[in-house]
Amino acid sequence: MKSWKKILMMLLLITAVALNAHAADKKVVWKLAMTWGQTLHPFTTSVESMAQMVEKMSDGNFIIRIDSANRHKSPFGVLDMVKAGQYEMAHTASYYWKGKDINLLPFTTMPFGMTAPEQYAWFYYGGGMELMQKAYAPHNMYSFPGGNTGNQMGGWFRKEINTLDDLKGLKMRIPGFAGEVLAELGTVVTNIAPGELYTALERGTIDALEWVGPGMDIKLGFHKVAPYYYTGWHEPATELQYLVNQKAFAELPENYKEILRVAMRTASYDMYAQNYHESAIAWDAIATEYPHIKVKTFSKDIIDAMKAANQKLLKQMSDEYPLFKETMDSQAEYQKKARVWTQISDFDYLKDNL
Ligand code: CA
Repeated sequence: MKSWKKILMMLLLITAVALNAHAADKKVVWKLAMTWGQTLHPFTTSVESMAQMVEKMSDGNFIIRIDSANRHKSPFGVLDMVKAGQYEMAHTASYYWKGKDINLLPFTTMPFGMTAPEQYAWFYYGGGMELMQKAYAPHNMYSFPGGNTGNQMGGWFRKEINTLDDLKGLKMRIPGFAGEVLAELGTVVTNIAPGELYTALERGTIDALEWVGPGMDIKLGFHKVAPYYYTGWHEPATELQYLVNQKAFAELPENYKEILRVAMRTASYDMYAQNYHESAIAWDAIATEYPHIKVKTFSKDIIDAMKAANQKLLKQMSDEYPLFKETMDSQAEYQKKARVWTQISDFDYLKDNL
């Protein structure tokens, strides 16, 4: 009887090892839809680098095919496509979904909110990831940080913005909560797909737009049409998002899940570093190659009005949406603690070293 048990145990062990080996070599081909067009470096190159890491780490067995918006033609349809399982993954920004589900908005960035190091700390160690999964669960998907742009510039304007009146009636492309804030101040706010921004500005469909920062903006040529370039208030730490269909993720072998997690996280940090680098280089070029660009900062009156509108809207939406409130309370509490450290470390250092 004893030897039978031994034989049975051996057989089970052999089967388990064989199954595991099979799982490790399992061929998996996924499709990923980006909100971006083909050439929006470093967003697109970051996704390509993530897919290459996944392929290499899985010995060529886990392949992620990338479709840009040029191909799938639906930059703002990627949430629904991953939800429906047409694509296993997407690369996009969470604040584009404010009209579908307000609870998804706060995971990109918030006006007057955390900086990139503060927000990464919140995501990974301060409860942010847990809240993000809670918000995405009703859509049958997971969300992972997908690369940060750092602090963004406040946008390109045809005319100088001197008073609050100058914002009234102005047609501006600006997504996320910042769009709500400017709408409150009388701006006519719209969101336009990244691939159509220059044409919209050139043709006068809009009077102003914000996109990212010098590294990405200069290449798109906005300065040719709208030379007033304002410093930022609205997107201090724009985190892009990977969206992953829950069912597809559950079907992955355990080691592929870990490979995917590691590749997404590595590519995301790398995009943050790349965009910082490219903005530094492009900013340097503004002084020498683009002297007609007029760099401006909004007046204190305008910033104060933006802050007041921001607070008012946060209260309104928190009263209406419990999960939005939970996320915003978590962000506010974390920011308060982290900002004291940011001040004593970065700010106090920088004020004597500029
Ligand atoms: Ca932006």
